[in-house]
Amino acid sequence: MKSSTRCHASSEAVPSSSCLQTDAPETRGIGGEESSSKHTTGAESRVSRVRELLRWYGEYGRDLPWRRTRDPYAILVSEVMLQQTQAARVVPRWLAWLERWPSAEALAAAPTADVIREWQGLGYNRRAVNLQRAARVVAERGWPDDLAELPGVGPYTADAVACFAFGRAVLPVDVNVRRVQERTGVTFDHTCAQALMDLGATVCIARVPRCGECPLADACPSRGRRFEPERKQGPFEGSFRQRRGAALRALLNGSDPSDEEAVAALAADGLVP
Ligand code: SF4
Repeated sequence: MKSSTRCHASSEAVPSSSCLQTDAPETRGIGGEESSSKHTTGAESRVSRVRELLRWYGEYGRDLPWRRTRDPYAILVSEVMLQQTQAARVVPRWLAWLERWPSAEALAAAPTADVIREWQGLGYNRRAVNLQRAARVVAERGWPDDLAELPGVGPYTADAVACFAFGRAVLPVDVNVRRVQERTGVTFDHTCAQALMDLGATVCIARVPRCGECPLADACPSRGRRFEPERKQGPFEGSFRQRRGAALRALLNGSDPSDEEAVAALAADGLVP
């Protein structure tokens, strides 16, 4: 467990007055004596919420190995793995991956079949292929300014690598961060990214949030509410995704997959020649 409230964006202790979007509505003054006082009160309240959030993070934040590096390649690998798999299950896979391919150059030079094999169980093999394509771009030309130019890197992943590796002032908004911001009505900034991710993953959870354990409960308009189940992915059994997976396993094992449609889809995605 971490002993201090640190942010990957800066690797410095986060000041208690940061973590807020300064142009958010609550911090805007509306002029005159009274509004100035309201402004101060609103700003103080927000600073206090952030302080509580970061204090909570210092005590309960998850100790994840990719939070101890600012290597953009290592962080990109973690973010792509986390798209489909829970953090606890990603940890050993991420460590093994970096042991095998410790740099973008190493991954770029690997046989794609090995990359797909190593990815087995992490979901959507296309992500592994795109990760290798991204590594090849980086190995050849370096990291682009616009990280979303890399194959398979969408806006969220680009923001996460920008924030955690390059220290840019962007808040990566994943499903957990979005949930906390929507329920609290507060817009946080990038310095709160990890704290918000952990709060959303462990306390402000989807259906029945644990408001009694929440550092933001005092001022949260959603405190005590229950929520409808979030939309779930359709059943895997019998799906085309399952057929694609079976065809890919057959190809990797050297046997002949009978599902031509699935093989064609794999080829279209660059998963097989
Ligand atoms: S008080 Fe409840 S609903 Fe509000 S942020 Fe905390 S856990 Fe989420």
